[in-house]
Amino acid sequence: MRIETPEQHYDLVVVGGGMVGASFACALSAAIEKENLSILIVEAIQQSTNVPQQPSFDSRSTALSYGSRCIYQEMGLWTQLASRVTAIKEIHVSDKGRFGSAQLNHAEYEVEALGYVVENRQLGEVLNKEMENSSQVKLLSPAKIDKVSPTSKGMQLQIEKGESTHTVETSLVVLADGGKSPICSQLGIEQSVDDYQQHALITNIAFEKPHHNVAYERFTDTGPLAVLPLDSYESENRGSLVWTVAADQSGELLDMDSSKLLHLLMDRFGNRLGQITLIGKRFCYPLTLRVAKEQIRPGLVLLGNVAHTLHPVAGQGLNLALRDTMVLVERLKRAAENSESPGSMAVLQDYLDSQDFDQQKTITFTNQLTRLFSTNNSGKVLARKLGLLSIDLMPSLKRGFAEQAMGLGGK
Ligand SMILES: Cc1cc2nc3c(=O)[nH]c(=O)nc-3n(C[C@H](O)[C@H](O)[C@H](O)COP(=O)(O)OP(=O)(O)OC[C@H]3O[C@@H](n4cnc5c(N)ncnc54)[C@H](O)[C@@H]3O)c2cc1C
Repeated sequence: MRIETPEQHYDLVVVGGGMVGASFACALSAAIEKENLSILIVEAIQQSTNVPQQPSFDSRSTALSYGSRCIYQEMGLWTQLASRVTAIKEIHVSDKGRFGSAQLNHAEYEVEALGYVVENRQLGEVLNKEMENSSQVKLLSPAKIDKVSPTSKGMQLQIEKGESTHTVETSLVVLADGGKSPICSQLGIEQSVDDYQQHALITNIAFEKPHHNVAYERFTDTGPLAVLPLDSYESENRGSLVWTVAADQSGELLDMDSSKLLHLLMDRFGNRLGQITLIGKRFCYPLTLRVAKEQIRPGLVLLGNVAHTLHPVAGQGLNLALRDTMVLVERLKRAAENSESPGSMAVLQDYLDSQDFDQQKTITFTNQLTRLFSTNNSGKVLARKLGLLSIDLMPSLKRGFAEQAMGLGGK
């Protein structure tokens, strides 16, 4: 439910209504219907279908793993999402100009699809509608959290809404304000930062031939390039491009004349889908691995990019955050049933202990893949050639890779 003025106290306050904060609020309200917890979510930028300002629900598309589909299903949102996603039936991984490739097909793993592509704005519409219809979640937006400070009973937040400033007390702050969190710095929580010196160039493209629900991950001399299948629009065969380039190259590619860029892209991607016929508006994202050195404190838990921001090469960032979300929701539900405070360290530590392995594994998998596939060093080129061949030839390795990609390899 949208509100204009907050109450003085909530059991939980979520800072940031991006993909992770909004998913968390929806998941919690679906899980604790009977427990009567009060939840406030504060989002700085009002989502609008016309103005692409909101940083989470922008022009990107996201590959949701099969595991994330199950999570949205558990939250009761899959029926609304199903008509807005494109299934990934096959993933084709290859190395430009070199022998060696790997293919993963949904039929081998007895699932309807390996994953699904959703346009971020579409996911935003579904999540925002759900929060607006919920009686348990109070959505305050546009409004900004200026300060979070610990008190003897939990946390105190200072909220700026228009010309007014409000003070709210809570037992638990779920901080989901994205990778570059000023609140984290304010609280003295450090992040380890590893700048990949790469940017992701994002755009939608159209092809001569249909994609048949294949997602392509292609490793090129300038960095990995992914093409995710999108549903056709006005009879165009569409795909979403995520092209990793050296940081100092991105400006030139953003400004480049479209026909010249098409030519360069064809050279990198090849003609597996025929000619690339159209290229949409381009956007650029700097790529950094950021990991918070603390994820919990009494009355505080970090979720999503503020806890771990990953390279998009393996499409794991949101998928990992959704798995974190579901484990946290489960622990909070148990705490509510046992009349424990949601901000108690025992509850939060239990959550973190359960997710630590999944987080470490996913961060390492993504980082190693990024390093291995962003180099022309001859040793690493050989390693990735052997890697791609062995993924394709060794069933157990292939299953491990597929399970990670499908978001089922966390345990
Ligand atoms: C190019 C690219 C492609 C990607 N592709 C994939 C993919 O295919 N699959 C996948 O799983 N992941 C992917 N990711 C990762 C995914 O986008 C992130 O995991 C996800 O966006 C994290 O969401 P978040 O809500 O934590 O942070 P954000 O998206 O940054 O949202 C934070 C929100 O908090 C709000 N906010 C900030 N400060 C305040 C404040 N003080 N008060 C109130 N509100 C505040 C902001 O307005 C924003 O809405 C990709 C990332 C990139 C860059």
